[in-house]
Amino acid sequence: MSDPTPDVPVRPFSPDGEDYRWTDVDLQIYKDTGDAPFRSITRQTLFRRDDLRGELRYFEIAARGHSTLERHQHSHAVVVLRGDGEVLVGDAVYAIKPFDLVVIPSLTWHQFRAEDGPLGFLCMVDRERDKPQIPGPDEIETLRRTPRVAAFLDATRK
Ligand code: MN
Repeated sequence: MSDPTPDVPVRPFSPDGEDYRWTDVDLQIYKDTGDAPFRSITRQTLFRRDDLRGELRYFEIAARGHSTLERHQHSHAVVVLRGDGEVLVGDAVYAIKPFDLVVIPSLTWHQFRAEDGPLGFLCMVDRERDKPQIPGPDEIETLRRTPRVAAFLDATRK
């Protein structure tokens, strides 16, 4: 994987109307294929370099959309930049807003959900990482034993 943002010291933030964009950074639009369900999510890889292990991405989830419910060996550090939403981390649900810091530990179920407007966040991750796991019926059942989590999961399926 090459550096998506080569040797330019500053890439100005360059909003395109309502959309959060950075100069010369590609916008990747995810298509839901059904095997890892999510809704209305885009990604911009802001930073990836051979001399650092980290990768910095900006994700945006449209109003009422959500990310995939998943877990993996690698962890995430997330900082919210725009909008309000909720995040499931393990067996708890938290309200999130701009500048909140969210840490997703290794092998912990997580999912983000946007409220009425777009939810945008920076996500730092290891550039070499394992593939996400998707919960099976038994794991969903275990998660749903916590009523607040069950309500969150129901809300992401509407
Ligand atoms: Mn993840």
